[in-house]
Amino acid sequence: MKMFSIAALAGDGIGPEVMREAIRVLRAAEKKFGFKLDITEAPVGWAGIDAVGKALPDVTLTLCKKSDAILFGSVGLPDRDPTIPKEERPERAALLRLRKEFGLFANLRPVRLPKALAHACPLTRERQGDGIDILVVRELTGGLYFGRPKKTEDLGGGNARATDTMAYSTPEIERIAHVAFRAAKLRRKKVTSIDKANVLENGVLWRDVVTRVGQHYSGVTLEHMFVDNGAMQLMLRPAQFDVMLCENMFGDILSDEAAALAGSLGMLPSASLGATSGEKTFGFYEPAGGTAPDIAGKNLANPIAQILSAALMLRHSLGLNDAAAAIENAVQQSIEAGNRTGDIFNPNEAGARRVGTREMGEAIASALR
Ligand code: NAD
Repeated sequence: MKMFSIAALAGDGIGPEVMREAIRVLRAAEKKFGFKLDITEAPVGWAGIDAVGKALPDVTLTLCKKSDAILFGSVGLPDRDPTIPKEERPERAALLRLRKEFGLFANLRPVRLPKALAHACPLTRERQGDGIDILVVRELTGGLYFGRPKKTEDLGGGNARATDTMAYSTPEIERIAHVAFRAAKLRRKKVTSIDKANVLENGVLWRDVVTRVGQHYSGVTLEHMFVDNGAMQLMLRPAQFDVMLCENMFGDILSDEAAALAGSLGMLPSASLGATSGEKTFGFYEPAGGTAPDIAGKNLANPIAQILSAALMLRHSLGLNDAAAAIENAVQQSIEAGNRTGDIFNPNEAGARRVGTREMGEAIASALR
């Protein structure tokens, strides 16, 4: 029997509630498909600070290093974050640290709008076209978020000057471009590369390197688009996109914009992948949204993003494609059966039934069984 070890880091806010449902579904998948997951839970974020004084406790990091993949909830609490120095805050001290530690350079965010949820999309049905099914591939370890220098200088007289640095090298662009082209080959074979080559030096290099990498993928169409136009096209004609390839900051922004098309952050999973060695790709899997403190602890959160993140984990790190697809189908079935958490509920929708986090998780697990 195939055995895998998983680090489950639920984190803060809605993290523990949605993680519970993802584990419930994984347990159902285990039984059905005959593999074994050794899932160990450990604190991260404010849960880590409260337990041992660190957003990423040593014991949690050690567990991650011993695991085949990390299933992550989310971290950070807007009320508490400002009370500690920036470097110690959960998103920096835990999330960014883990991304660096495991060399997670590729972020994959699938955005799919199920037909049954067309009403939850802010766009008219006409603009939804033949359906929205976009994969945003975002570079995760370079660009403006990590470039040095990064500093704020005191200019005196109440004035300051802040500097962030955007820097990319050829190999950094090449490896993320390969991820996007490989993904496109398995989808509708189109890559739209996003840049700002009309203004940024980084954009010029990005465009050159992506074009060169694209020449190795003869069946895949490559188009280039300026980021401002990309933001607009997502609202006007989202069905034109298959894979959107973006540097770090553009990907951060556009993936959230694309996320809005799916009706709710609560529907959107994400995978962050490191280098592949042999058959294994270490990955970090988390919902696209944050800790949603406004609804935390009330059985209101949509667990689907966390459950679909678990499905991505089965596919990309554990090579369990059938089980991953079965979870995705079970989610689809649960939606089609009318189950709706508050974020995707519309009282005017015939056959829709408002359910809580737990009920949604149970419905998906039982559809899987
Ligand atoms: P958020 O994503 O937590 O919430 C934005 C809105 O989306 C809220 O109305 C929330 O209720 C809703 N939402 C998010 N996930 C949902 C779900 N599963 N089901 C139903 N509704 C959902 O963003 P925010 O309010 O800007 O941030 C809250 C905290 O989360 C902050 O401390 C932020 O730093 C942190 N954060 C963490 C991560 C992460 O850990 N990866 C990502 C983003 C934000």
